[in-house]
This record gives sequence, structure tokens and C-alpha cells, in this order.
Amino acid sequence: MTIELFRNDSYLKEHNTIISEIVPEGLILNETIFYPEGGGQPGDEGSITIDNQTINVIGTRYIDNKLVHLIENIDGLKKDEKVRLNLNWNRRYSYMKVHTSLHLLCSIIPLPVTGGSIGDGRGRLDFDLESKPDKEEVLNKINELIDKDYSIYISSITDKELDENPELVRTMSVKPPRGSGQIRMIKIGDDIDFQPCGGTHVDKTSEINHVKSVKIENKGKMNKRIILNF
Ligand SMILES: [Zn+2]
Repeated sequence: MTIELFRNDSYLKEHNTIISEIVPEGLILNETIFYPEGGGQPGDEGSITIDNQTINVIGTRYIDNKLVHLIENIDGLKKDEKVRLNLNWNRRYSYMKVHTSLHLLCSIIPLPVTGGSIGDGRGRLDFDLESKPDKEEVLNKINELIDKDYSIYISSITDKELDENPELVRTMSVKPPRGSGQIRMIKIGDDIDFQPCGGTHVDKTSEINHVKSVKIENKGKMNKRIILNF
């Protein structure tokens, strides 16, 4: 199993590690700083340097439960080789900011989330919601929360604790990762937002750019899509 360093430190930009396995799609490493596609957040891109050769990582995702760094050509690569990882930090940091803003949106609209997506300078959540909220109100509230400079904390609870508190699960379309006995939790401020999440987040809400505009689309009687543009 790859040790997923980004879970505890989302700010790692470079790291030395070793190839543990080669699959047709790319490389599996002992440790990684690359986030694999999931929960609406795209997988990381960047590069891997072996000796003096630099190879582009065109994506990161789980394949058969293994975290694979996707590369175009695996010819000549060997297991146990030392590699240096370089994350495309600007791209990832943009996703971290948008991702964290969606947690703030969850706190403004305390209803079940049915879907979501994180893009570059843009993010959206779909809510189980009948009437459209006022978009100017959402815009003002989210920018207020960004300005408050709340800290984001990573912690964990047991599977049992989550079973006993099912209201903690906000996103119906993304199941919290079970199996290890522990569920990763993300908390913003003392009581702004608290929910299971495996994604990457900023440390402080003030790192998020102000939301420039909010768009709300009707996606069905009980489904409203809220899009944040930065
Ligand atoms: Zn999250």
C-alpha cells in the first residue's frame, strides 16, 4: 500500500521515494504526495525524476485499489528505482482552495449534497433543495466566512462513531472511505463545518480567493446546483 502523505500534509510539493510496482498505466510508489482523482477533485499532475530523466505524470488515480501515477511510457523503468516527485503545485493549490470553499458552502446550506465537482477557479455542489436560495446572499455569506480566517483541522473518528452519527455525512454521492476502522474528518473553525472527507484543503480560509459570482441552476424539483466562480 502506498503511504499517502498528502492526507496529513497537503502542502508537500516535492518528495523522494521508490518505485514499488509498475503497471501498464504507470507507477505505484512507496509514498506519494499526489492526490488521486476522487470525491469530485481531479487527480494530481506533475513529474517524476529518475536519475536525470524527467517523466510527466499526466494524472493520478486508483486502479484496482492501487494509487497509480499515470505516465505515457513505462519502458525502461524498474521496480525499486529511486525517484523524485514534483507536484504541479499551482494546479493543486487552486483545487485545494475551491475544495475548501465547497465545505463553506455546505455550512451555508445545511442540506444533503447529491453531487459536486471541483475545477480550476470554479466549483459546484448539488443540493437536495426545493427552492432556489438567493445567490447574492450565498455570495456575501461565503466571502464573509473566507475573510474570517478560520483554521481547517484534520482528525478522525471510528467507523462506529460515524454509524452512530449519520448526520455527519453531508455528501450522499461520495461514501466515506471505510475499511481501516478510521474515517478522516475535516473541521473548519469550531463549528462551521465538520464532515468526513478524503480531499486536500487549505490551512486557513483566508487563503481562498473571494468568490466573484454565484450561479444557481434548477436540476429537478428537489435538486439545485450552486456554482461558485472565483
Ligand atoms: Zn473536503
